[in-house]
Amino acid sequence: MLRDDFERGFDQYEAQKHGDLGEAWLFRFVAQGSLVKNRRAAKKEAAELAAKLTESAVKLAGKDLNLAKEQAAIARRVRLRHNVRAEPSLRRFTCKSCKSLIVPGVNARVRLGHGKPPTLRITCLECGHVNRKILGTP
Ligand SMILES: [Zn+2]
Repeated sequence: MLRDDFERGFDQYEAQKHGDLGEAWLFRFVAQGSLVKNRRAAKKEAAELAAKLTESAVKLAGKDLNLAKEQAAIARRVRLRHNVRAEPSLRRFTCKSCKSLIVPGVNARVRLGHGKPPTLRITCLECGHVNRKILGTP
């Protein structure tokens, strides 16, 4: 099976840029990604990688927002390619509109809406979209 464009995108240089994560994960993923026969195992690995990348991106956002965004974008590509959903706990770090990484205090504003069902309004400062999260039912 030939590697596709997605996997070719990660060369050694690219992997090194992402530090430990790049070394340990991207490399292994690129090397084995398309060779894994078991689809379920591939999906599981993809989900794990996407979660690790997103977590790392959130941690990094305060220091290097561009690299963090890049990692989040890779995570999204991995999820799309393997058709796996983001973990519910990590879903709030993606803007529903522009799909960019949003981290409260860095490039997102969080406000509490006092409606009938109270809502959490997370404004993406990249595109201005307001991501609403309903906090329980009245
Ligand atoms: Zn946005």
